[in-house]
Amino acid sequence: MNTRRRSITNRLETWNYLISLYGNRCVYCHDNYATQIDHVVPYSYCYANDIENLRPSCAYCNILASDATFFDFEEKYNYVADMRAKSQSGRRMLLCSVCMIPYYSALHPSALFCPVCWAKEYRKDVPAPKQWRDWLGKLSMAGIEHRAYMDLAEYIYNTKSHNVPKLRKLELLAEFTAEYDK
Ligand SMILES: [Zn+2]
Ligand SMILES: [Zn+2]
Repeated sequence: MNTRRRSITNRLETWNYLISLYGNRCVYCHDNYATQIDHVVPYSYCYANDIENLRPSCAYCNILASDATFFDFEEKYNYVADMRAKSQSGRRMLLCSVCMIPYYSALHPSALFCPVCWAKEYRKDVPAPKQWRDWLGKLSMAGIEHRAYMDLAEYIYNTKSHNVPKLRKLELLAEFTAEYDK
């Protein structure tokens, strides 16, 4: 119990520290708000959790980088920039306006709401096509805790406060993500 609480506190402290160092925008695209703690070199390396290896990033850039391995930040930064340029001509990545989970327009027709928030917004059943479930699997593989986004959606709809400011959403997301830390 104590250990768990400590790990949650640590994760939030790390998050707040990174934001104080790098700001709350993604270090790769400098555009989207950061929603994840990115490991520059993969988790599996022994120094993966050293603070110098961690950066705030958006889920989009995290996914773009998820297929490759890097040895330093610069290498990863250039790779992500390349991938972003390529993907701009192809499928468009959207961010749900409520829970901020990333998705492709091909996965869901709404440009504002992810399937979960769309269902809540319009009081419908959650559409769960296979592509959406595959997508959530891909997010998990990229180290993106999609349950935390679902918790955020839940929170926002339960408190009926759609207008939670973006920065507060980011804080909540960091808190919910910490809850799923092993
Ligand atoms: Zn980014
Ligand atoms: Zn959503």
